[in-house]
Amino acid sequence: MPLTQCYVCEIEIPPAQANYQQINGRLVCGSQSCRHFLLREAGVPRSLFLAQLEIQRAMHREKRREEMDNKRKQQQRIEQEAVENLKLLQSLPEYADTTSKTSTPIVTLPVANTQCEPLSKARRDDYLQHLRQVISEAMAFSNANEISEDRNLDASNLLQQRLAQNNDEATQHICSQVCALCKGYCCASGKNHGFISALTIRKLLDQHPEWGVNEVLNMYLSCLPTASIEHSCVNHTAKGCALSREMRSDICNNYLCDTVLACESAFLQQGVEEVFAVKRAQLNDADLPNAENSRVVDYQLIYPKKLS
Ligand code: SF4
Ligand code: SF4
Ligand SMILES: [Zn+2]
Repeated sequence: MPLTQCYVCEIEIPPAQANYQQINGRLVCGSQSCRHFLLREAGVPRSLFLAQLEIQRAMHREKRREEMDNKRKQQQRIEQEAVENLKLLQSLPEYADTTSKTSTPIVTLPVANTQCEPLSKARRDDYLQHLRQVISEAMAFSNANEISEDRNLDASNLLQQRLAQNNDEATQHICSQVCALCKGYCCASGKNHGFISALTIRKLLDQHPEWGVNEVLNMYLSCLPTASIEHSCVNHTAKGCALSREMRSDICNNYLCDTVLACESAFLQQGVEEVFAVKRAQLNDADLPNAENSRVVDYQLIYPKKLS
């Protein structure tokens, strides 16, 4: 199928879009800068316009060359990492006597910040205000089933479905190994709220009807660490989440990142015996990975729960 080019940046425009993307009879792509450039044509002397056009085109060519170069380097790094991962796997004592296990799936872990810092008064106050708010909202309901709008509702339903399918135990076993190795990359989005909502509190109160506002508030505050991981959730410590599963939000309890899902699918759908998880200083889909910033920092074989 023949393609035509933007008059300014020279990128290919599919013919289906060529009819309506024209300025002064010239074909132009959807970029605002290309369109603005063409709109200026009538007010600029012809020779100046052509000189500026040549500069624009050269800049775009250079940008495309850089992008392709980065993509190529990235692809090379991904291939190199795959070779390194396999060598690492084959060097494990568990693999010393066999070459038949080279089909073990390999997953790359997200990389969490592990640096702790004292929890500031501002963050503590913010969290306290959030807790007071959601506790007061929870108190307006007599049980969790009455809540029909809540940020945790979708996660709560998904969690119940998983429990009904009876694979949550196996998933938790996988999570306990993978997440311990990762150390909570996903917790960064917990900020000063930990995703705790009225539904979280109401579910907790349904299990402990003897608790009042002060008891539930003190319960959360007593778990709050004095130091937590930098730029992460207030409850995120070097050892993991400071809250019990019962006190965590359904968003937290239900969240499974792509790596956990890949392990889950390998064990539960493909029936593999183990998965090799590799943790690198930086993920290989980062902008410009290189050997130093994507070096291996940890690795581990992950096993499924032995289901009886
Ligand atoms: S769910 Fe994924 S991102 Fe979150 S702690 Fe576990 S491995 Fe890390
Ligand atoms: S409450 Fe716990 S599990 Fe949830 S984001 Fe914070 S540290 Fe992570
Ligand atoms: Zn363009």
